[in-house]
Amino acid sequence: MNVRRRRQDRWWVPGYGTVVDPNKAKVAAVATGTGYLGCVIPMITIFLPHRGITFHWWAIGVIGAIVVGEGLVMVGDLHRLIGDRFRGIPVAKALAEVLAAVVAAGLADYAAGGRGFYRPVIFVPVLIAAVLGNAAFIAIVWLSTVGLLAFTALQGGLPSSYLPTLLCIYGVIALIGAIMTQQLRNSHIRSSEGFDRLAETTEVILRAGSFDDAMVRFLPLVALQAEARRVDAYRQVGSEHVHVGTWPFGAPPAPGGVPADVVGLARGPGGSTGGYVVRPEYTTIFSVGAADQALILVVHRRSPHFWREVSYGAAVRRLAVELGLLVNHRDFMAHLDELGRTDSLTGLSNRRELMARLEHELASTSRRDASFAVVMIDLDYFKQFNDEFGHLQGDRALVELGQLLRDRTRGSDLAARYGGEEFCVVLHDTDLEGATTFAQGILEAVGTLGTARPVTCSAGVATSSGHASADSLLRSADAALYYAKESGRARYVVAPPPPPPPSTAGWRVGADPTRLPV
Ligand code: GH3
Ligand code: MG
Ligand code: MG
Repeated sequence: MNVRRRRQDRWWVPGYGTVVDPNKAKVAAVATGTGYLGCVIPMITIFLPHRGITFHWWAIGVIGAIVVGEGLVMVGDLHRLIGDRFRGIPVAKALAEVLAAVVAAGLADYAAGGRGFYRPVIFVPVLIAAVLGNAAFIAIVWLSTVGLLAFTALQGGLPSSYLPTLLCIYGVIALIGAIMTQQLRNSHIRSSEGFDRLAETTEVILRAGSFDDAMVRFLPLVALQAEARRVDAYRQVGSEHVHVGTWPFGAPPAPGGVPADVVGLARGPGGSTGGYVVRPEYTTIFSVGAADQALILVVHRRSPHFWREVSYGAAVRRLAVELGLLVNHRDFMAHLDELGRTDSLTGLSNRRELMARLEHELASTSRRDASFAVVMIDLDYFKQFNDEFGHLQGDRALVELGQLLRDRTRGSDLAARYGGEEFCVVLHDTDLEGATTFAQGILEAVGTLGTARPVTCSAGVATSSGHASADSLLRSADAALYYAKESGRARYVVAPPPPPPPSTAGWRVGADPTRLPV
């Protein structure tokens, strides 16, 4: 899965959202800058000589320093949010914050000078605000200035009538910018946590040796992220829900199983799909893999709190993505397993799978006192066919024969490509008569395949009775096939049963029976 993708200048992760939207960051920068500069105008007018206070150039300088300092902080913040380009900013930020705090305190003290009542009212909050950071600083400087202006208005000495309106407008713009910056910063932090969690989950899943192993590692992570009291995991096979695990481990599944409202697990056009249903008592998260099997988690939360719902929703969305990863991984493992068992040209089982099936059949029939049969099939003069029509046509003939074997076998049988143009069919619970009927059917049908010219094949038939190993059974069928070739091809030959093990009748034991250990 493409976890991190760069799309139109934005870093985003499916289910995690955009880490920082540069367009929003630009709007925030412009709003903060405009509002901030705008707030300075009325602040300057407070110190204008017509209000009876002596005009001080240094006061203008102080205000300018605040603007520059705080501006630096703001630009630095936004650039750090967008990229890692402004690495030097933390030092500049610290300096700017200290400078801003000092000048803001000086400004407030100066503004309140001669009005004893305002000294603590303006000085203290402005000092705290400057230390706290940009947004609060702007808010409190703005509010203090409004307060100051209101006071002067009450005294009947407003510097000019449009100033309060202007101040309010700029103040609002500055606050919006500051709040946007703060939100971007928060979303940045949340997204970073999301990245970390996703990386952790991906690693856990990929390191797992098997699906069950992955499940055991995955459930505690789910519990942690969803603040869960318990998590039940189910696999949907057809319409059945099979319980595959519960956290805390060892606990029985919750009574009631999968809630009835988890419906509509229909696959989308892209293959796999997933989703979630959030209810007050439980949350269900599901993902349907390419193999058409759904994995369902039923999460029971510890203590739902309404003020945590937003972050809970984000966690559930993230978990849905993670569950998708797990399901895809499982499908991938199954695909690898399938590749390891299949012949790529014909899609039949390969030799490895054949040997495994023979061992399994031998073990199960010896327990049940039953027997099965093996038919080895080899195309006649196939080298000649290749020479005549080319390898591509040869391959087509092999695919056709593979399809014929698939059509003629039952679900409980196994048709395998043994190697080259040699095939082997394992006929489950089949006696000699059934096996020869099958072989005869193949010999007849092979001539009607849509090959470049009609082909024939030979077959060797053997039943499992008397064979102790897969090798011995295959050797028997192969010997019969060889005999079919020798005696003219386009026929089948039945292998004789293997010679019985030597009888023990007449054997003598050399020990004295009276002295055997008791
Ligand atoms: P026989 O009747 O004795 O079986 O004669 P034959 O020519 O079929 O047997 P031989 O063992 O001499 O040759 C087998 C040929 O099968 C050689 C090779 O060209 C062909 N063959 C094996 N694997 C493939 C394959 O994957 N594709 C194609 N097109 N031909 C294959
Ligand atoms: Mg051949
Ligand atoms: Mg051959």
